[in-house]
Amino acid sequence: MIVVTAATGQFGRLVIDALLDRGTPASEIVAAVRTPAKAADIAARGVEVREADYTKPETLVPAFTGADKLLFVSSSGPEADRISQHAAVVAAATEARVGQLLYTSIYSASDSPLGLSRVHRDTEARIAASGLPSVLLRNGWYTENYTGSLAGAVERGAVAGSAGEGRIASAARVDYAEAAAIVLLADDQAGKVYELTGDTNWSLAELAAEAARQTGKEVAYANLPAEKYGEILTGVGLPAFLVELLVDADLRVSEGALAGVTGDLSGLLGRPTTPLADTVAAALKG
Ligand code: NDP
Repeated sequence: MIVVTAATGQFGRLVIDALLDRGTPASEIVAAVRTPAKAADIAARGVEVREADYTKPETLVPAFTGADKLLFVSSSGPEADRISQHAAVVAAATEARVGQLLYTSIYSASDSPLGLSRVHRDTEARIAASGLPSVLLRNGWYTENYTGSLAGAVERGAVAGSAGEGRIASAARVDYAEAAAIVLLADDQAGKVYELTGDTNWSLAELAAEAARQTGKEVAYANLPAEKYGEILTGVGLPAFLVELLVDADLRVSEGALAGVTGDLSGLLGRPTTPLADTVAAALKG
């Protein structure tokens, strides 16, 4: 049996889709979710839904019991919260004696300079200490991190950021989700560490140029001082922890933190990763 956490999130839903598309019987899949009420459509497909809230440890062992493979999708929120939530998940997976624990980590977790990587390093260390057979799916950036706000950027004529000429080897969220499903369904995966990136990298100036090309409008990249970029993100209502995380990410991108291209993702998929232009087109179509 395969248990997928955070299965009502965008990534988790795509993993469930990919498992079913590959012929996995629904009866072999469990969606472990924080909010079962949000999973009615998943249950309607024959997938068992169990409550698994990372902040409620008592829900976790029952949710993971019987898992041959557990896909642990990382949480969101402030760093301290995520660290304690992830610790609870690893402890529960150990207590439930799952057959294999697969974790969605971050690209180059061992030496990534991104502030966000601290949570993932801590979690990877806990997984190693648990002694569970494990697989690390070190996901690079989703292209959607940038295209989600692209329609507004096109309206304003500017993509804002602090990434300078840094390049980002992103792939579409669905690419990472399909890869997770492929690894879940494969044999002999224990101990593997996948560094998952897009096949090509791009700069924010190139993202702006692609949006301009597709819309026929003028869109430029405005490279801003970190403080100014932070003010913009705060102004659109993002919480302080997220503003800090996003500004830090752009600064580290400017130093090359996400430029690496590994080929692991397209290797798993057996096809190229989704090109930037396709994700831009999907975002601008609305
Ligand atoms: P979403 O925001 O769509 O989904 C996040 C999921 O995490 C939701 O299902 C949410 O549950 C669940 N979740 C949050 N808190 C808890 C909790 N306490 N207990 C159990 N579940 C919880 O993000 P994505 O699906 O797109 O991404 C999945 C994860 O990947 C993110 O949580 C984040 O760690 C990471 N990420 C990676 C990015 C990248 O570029 N590689 C970019 C953004 C995030 P609910 O449905 O109930 O809200």
